Amino acid sequence: MRIGLPKEIKNHEYRVGLTPASVREFTSRGHEVFVQSGAGASIGLADEQYAASGAVLVKDAAEVFAKADMVVKVKEPQPQECAMLREGQILYTYLHLAPDPEQTAALVKSGAICVAYETITGPGGGLPLLAPMSEVAGRMSIQAGAAHLEKSKGGMGVLLGGVPGVEPAHVLVIGAGVVGTHAMQMAIGLGARVTVLDKNVDRLRQIDAIYGNRVKTLYSNAQTLEEKVLESDLVIGGVLVPGAAAPKLVTRSMVRCMKKGAVLVDVAIDQGGCFETSRATTHAEPTYVIDDVVHYCVANMPGAVARTSTFALNNATLAHGLALADKGWKQAMKDNPHLKAGLNVAAGKVTYDAVARDLGYAY
Ligand code: NAD
Repeated sequence: MRIGLPKEIKNHEYRVGLTPASVREFTSRGHEVFVQSGAGASIGLADEQYAASGAVLVKDAAEVFAKADMVVKVKEPQPQECAMLREGQILYTYLHLAPDPEQTAALVKSGAICVAYETITGPGGGLPLLAPMSEVAGRMSIQAGAAHLEKSKGGMGVLLGGVPGVEPAHVLVIGAGVVGTHAMQMAIGLGARVTVLDKNVDRLRQIDAIYGNRVKTLYSNAQTLEEKVLESDLVIGGVLVPGAAAPKLVTRSMVRCMKKGAVLVDVAIDQGGCFETSRATTHAEPTYVIDDVVHYCVANMPGAVARTSTFALNNATLAHGLALADKGWKQAMKDNPHLKAGLNVAAGKVTYDAVARDLGYAY
């Protein structure tokens, strides 16, 4: 198959759909890979590395789209990219169609076969192509939180791990899923006092079995949540209720009573956020202050560490990408129902139940 790798064009998107090592996996199986010149340059993946992996470098996205049977990307296609898709061509990328009627209409019109990373399921449940970005965001939340606890960033001026003879900071992690677990690991590693809240007691059991008394696990109810929020220096919001907006667990009145200079990192902001005072921010201006509490609410945290995120994403997407290339999309999906769950639009029809329902397409 002929595989195409365009450079991402969404504002401030530096990730890339295939690393040189991934390209090598395709070319070593006899596939041809066309890479837009400079596709990975901003994260240190040079054209020469792609060429050494067997790719053919081409000058622009138009040539990539024209040559490819399958286009591999990171972000949803922008309008000018949708216009370059053609009937029967495979598009393999994050799509997030439900809130995006314009993109959905453009993909339907193109006649392309559109496979969304975010709806591919895993044999053990969950969404394995979303998980790496939650891992990145979870780990990053502690870095961001620690930095903003510094005086010059508006914080109270405490070091997360303290020093011998001085108390460490208290970190509260709300939600013990992928984001929460990775946040917790980083906070423990830096020597903070860590408390994790979740409604899923089995999840808390697993964490207790692994981390013992290095982390305090508590069932999430309104009272415990309020008590812990008020005594914390750094609060990480990592809750998810699948298919729904994030519940506003930390209210405005709780924020008013928090320690001055405390920091909130609302990772769940892409689902509306779990603090009542949250609004989405960008890497250019990541924080704002309400009632002397610093709010960090960046909706695309992994974008800041685009190189790490690119490798993490490729680790999760490669196997299905190779299956699509080796077998063609129909056979690959027949063989693997988890990959089939990724099919969102095919040959002019919306093929994913929730998207069809939300946007009023026949399914
Ligand atoms: P997950 O499903 O692995 O974990 C969510 C956890 O929240 C679950 O353990 C669930 O039991 C728990 N939860 C639900 N309601 C709760 C409540 N009332 N109290 C306490 N816990 C509760 O999800 P995840 O992969 O960890 O993602 C978490 C959020 O982070 C999602 O909204 C995701 O989209 C978002 N995210 C944001 C970024 C970003 O850049 N901002 C990046 C990646 C993920």
